[in-house]
Amino acid sequence: MTFYGSDYAELESFDPDIAGVLLSELGRIRGGLQLIASENLSSPRVLTALGSTLSNKYAEGYPGRRYYGGCAEVDKAENLAIERCKELFGADHANVQPHSGASANQAVYGAFMKPGETILAMSLPHGGHLTHGTKVSFSGKWFNAVHYGVDQETEDINYAQMEELAREHRPKVICAGGSAIPRLIDFERIRALADEVGAIFWVDAAHFIGLVAGKAIPSPVPYADVVSFTTHKVLRGPRSGAIVCTAEHAAAIDKAVFPMMQGGPQMHTIAAKAVNFKECATPEYAAYAKQVVENAAVLATSLAEHGIRPTTGGTDTHLSLHDLQGVGVTGKDAEARADAAGIVLNKNAIPFDPAPPSVASGIRVGTPCVTTQGMGTEEMRTIARLIATAVTKGDADPDNAVTREVRAEVTDLVTRFPAYPR
Ligand SMILES: *Cc1c(COP(=O)(O)O)cnc(C)c1O
Repeated sequence: MTFYGSDYAELESFDPDIAGVLLSELGRIRGGLQLIASENLSSPRVLTALGSTLSNKYAEGYPGRRYYGGCAEVDKAENLAIERCKELFGADHANVQPHSGASANQAVYGAFMKPGETILAMSLPHGGHLTHGTKVSFSGKWFNAVHYGVDQETEDINYAQMEELAREHRPKVICAGGSAIPRLIDFERIRALADEVGAIFWVDAAHFIGLVAGKAIPSPVPYADVVSFTTHKVLRGPRSGAIVCTAEHAAAIDKAVFPMMQGGPQMHTIAAKAVNFKECATPEYAAYAKQVVENAAVLATSLAEHGIRPTTGGTDTHLSLHDLQGVGVTGKDAEARADAAGIVLNKNAIPFDPAPPSVASGIRVGTPCVTTQGMGTEEMRTIARLIATAVTKGDADPDNAVTREVRAEVTDLVTRFPAYPR
């Protein structure tokens, strides 16, 4: 049995330039440590669905209610994705059509807000997201965004400030979630606040939804009106998005995704999401999610032992944010030095960062990829030592002697725990 796609040799003979990129990107992934907290290594099965002829099909609308003929087969894929998604998260309703996390978020605004209305969300420099009302995004241009941050002492979400702002501004929507929040979020407390001020409670679970799927951390689904997420971060599916919500909001969400914000759904990606949701329901995935959290905790503590302080004192999730001021290195330099040693991570603003975002005083590290590769807590201690050495004693020049030594140890690690084993 065969399907069309994935014939590398044929692509290579027709387009060696792009074929070369596909291969050298795989080489890059295999050759270094991927610690970007928002990335993961999706399974060959997910990639198979992505590279299929379902990409060709126009299927505007929803299963059984399409604007095009010939949708019987793709309807099966979308129905499977919807049912598996609802089952996985115990949700009343799922929409699996958003093209990405940002598209899913756009649909949430479309479903619940009119231009000019107020949203209360976490500020970007304190760990929020561009789509949570920043001035450069549609969300900040078309809506009135009010932002809460973190507490200066605990560096965790400042709930008292959130409550004060909600009572003062009476937002239409209260949003929780972000891109650099290492700790659990108190969904129960925010639900109570939303009820008090008559707001919709939206959780943007893009980063941590995989941990929820694997039952490694508590779920926002029982508390929120609507939960949007990406499917390519800890969840480990295709690059895409999805939304789950209560039955009450199902019609509003569906209309906001299509036709308000999007055109034809990407049926190949929806099929890949269905495969991923099936993977996420297995005991292997649950074990993976727990290991991601355990690894992140050990990585954060070990970096602290090397003088690289985790904000909030550590992490409960898959990521930690580290303050480099104690070792006198900027986030920008740390990113470049780690990269030269084969360790891919990103500079990140820390709360109340004195440096501009383009330089930043911190780094963000996450364990989804290295855990997919089978690494455990022992390897996390090694990785912390390698990061600390590369960042404090190495250089952005790959020929630096210390950097070369670190790189050799990185090569040893990724040889023992390969990404996409041959
Ligand atoms: C990653 C992320 C998004 C955006 O997802 P894209 O797929 O890149 O559009 C939205 N919100 C949060 C909190 C994220 O972390």
